[in-house]
Parts: sequence; structure tokens; C-alpha cells
Amino acid sequence: MAVYQADAIVIRSREYGESDRLITLFSREKGKLEAVAKGVRKPKSTQRGGTQLFTYADFLLYRGKTLDTVNQAQPRENFIHLWDDFDRTITASAMVELLDISTVREQPDPELFTLTLSFLFLLKHLDPYMAQAAYALRLMHLQGYLPSMEGCTECGGDLSGEQVYLSAEAGGFLCAACKNNRIVIALNPGSLALMRQLYQADFVKIDRLRWNKKMRQEILESLCHYCEQKFERKLLAWRQGSEFWNK
Ligand SMILES: [Zn+2]
Repeated sequence: MAVYQADAIVIRSREYGESDRLITLFSREKGKLEAVAKGVRKPKSTQRGGTQLFTYADFLLYRGKTLDTVNQAQPRENFIHLWDDFDRTITASAMVELLDISTVREQPDPELFTLTLSFLFLLKHLDPYMAQAAYALRLMHLQGYLPSMEGCTECGGDLSGEQVYLSAEAGGFLCAACKNNRIVIALNPGSLALMRQLYQADFVKIDRLRWNKKMRQEILESLCHYCEQKFERKLLAWRQGSEFWNK
């Protein structure tokens, strides 16, 4: 069996067999990987810390015929702050779920790896839901799915009406005249302006952005629908979080 190294984040973890876990990793070198962490549900397992959700670790993996196995997991960062409050746990869960549904196995994307790692660190300080929106927009950019936000996608006209309309089918925003019978989500132009900033602003500046409840709902709901339609999967953690950011 071949052994290989991976510098990776645990993005999914589920029970497997009697005492094992099947974990999904997003690695710098190989992109998304799946491996069995044997015996980690036993209290005395030494690999427990390295294989928990969100952990960033140095992995040594065995290449198996059907499934790879974790041989070693040396934690670099456990992101304790992600477990300290529910908003941060649910936000980080929504982010890694989006990463999972938008990627295929073993397709390296070092930029996406760095982006994800950076946002897990940034969740320590940033408004968690703002970080989630900023992460989703940047992930979509790297995947080639960023909604077009400069002018109406159809006619190129100004997006300055009372409402603007996000359409996954059109791949961006539409003006009132162009939305026709498409499935769209209506937003205030102020929410669109903030969405642009969440996408463009450097990390330090995201911290200075502000939104009200209405903008937060509009941005998070529209991004959820947009990503679900683009990646053709439901975002369960994102939806679970709506109970909190809709309050
Ligand atoms: Zn138009």
C-alpha cells in the first residue's frame, strides 16, 4: 500500500462501523479526499484530535483499494473558537458543506484551500454570517460561478431600481424589465452593494462592513438559493443557520 501525506482540513465526519469515522478532507495537495479514521470513536484513540470536524492537520494516509485510511493525524490547528458559540459552529459547518458539495474528489485547488483555511481563522473575529457570505462569494468566483453583479446580466442596464433580482439561470442580477418569468430572488440595491463589498473587500475591511437584519436575510437567503441551484444540492447547514440569522 502506498503512503502519502496531506496538509488538510476535515470538512465532513460521520460514524463508520463500530468505532471508526469516515472523514472527508480538503487538502492543499490533492483537493478533496476521503479516508477512514480507524478506532477514533474509542475514548483512548490518539488520533481523535486530528480527525475532528474543522481540524487542520498533517495527515499520513494509506492508499487502499477502495478506501484510504488515516495512519497519522498531527493537528496544526483545532479552531477551538468554532466550537465556542453556536453561530460560529453553524457558520463553519455551512462553509465546509458548501466546499464539499461544490468540489469533486482529487482535484487540487490550492487557492480554494487557502481561502477556506483563512476564513476558518477569520471566524474568530468577524461577524460569522458576514464571513459566511464573503466566503461563499469568493468560493463561487474560484469555481467560475460568481453571480454577475455589475449591471443587469441580460440588458447591461443599471441595477438602481427599487429592487434587483438574482437569478441562477441568468448567472447574476437582472433589472425589473428583464426578470420576466424567471425564478428570481428580489433584493434591495443596498444589499447588492454590500454583496459586492463582501466579495471585493480585503479581509481587514470586511470587519468594518455593517448590515441590518433585512440585508442579512436577503444576502444569505439569495446566496443559499443561488448556490443550491448552481451546485444542484441542498445546503442543509446553511438552512439550519437561517433559524438564527432570521431572528
Ligand atoms: Zn435588464
